[in-house]
Amino acid sequence: MVSKFEQEAIAFAKKKEGIKPSVSRKIKLHNRTLKVGYRDIAIQVIKPDFLKENISSSDYGQYLPKQNRIEIQAQQQPLDEVNTVLHELLHVIINDIGETQKGGVLSDEETEEKFIYNAANCLSQVFRDNTWLLDYLQEQFKRKGN
Ligand SMILES: [Zn+2]
Repeated sequence: MVSKFEQEAIAFAKKKEGIKPSVSRKIKLHNRTLKVGYRDIAIQVIKPDFLKENISSSDYGQYLPKQNRIEIQAQQQPLDEVNTVLHELLHVIINDIGETQKGGVLSDEETEEKFIYNAANCLSQVFRDNTWLLDYLQEQFKRKGN
């Protein structure tokens, strides 16, 4: 059995050589809960039933506010899935702050969709092109001193 110290030494050596440790860091999305404001939003990765559901073949996900649920289409390419998660998260946030209500800046459904589409695409691109950023943010949250 390899001690924790030895595992860390091996991981450090592999990192130095540019080899990633063999430990899987895959985080499952299905059945996760996303806390946004006062709500707990359930995430489900699904194979869409195009006859039964509201979802169309061109959609990769949907937010169902009355069910506090986000559905993400299964088997997407990783970057598409990231973009879909960010897209649906923005729907939750925008809905929560009331800007999709009558008189809100995103009360027009097409305007809301266009805004969210562009914002999610931009966020995906920034996170993709600056891979250090998410690690930095995570580190800063851990250091918050609480
Ligand atoms: Zn949308």
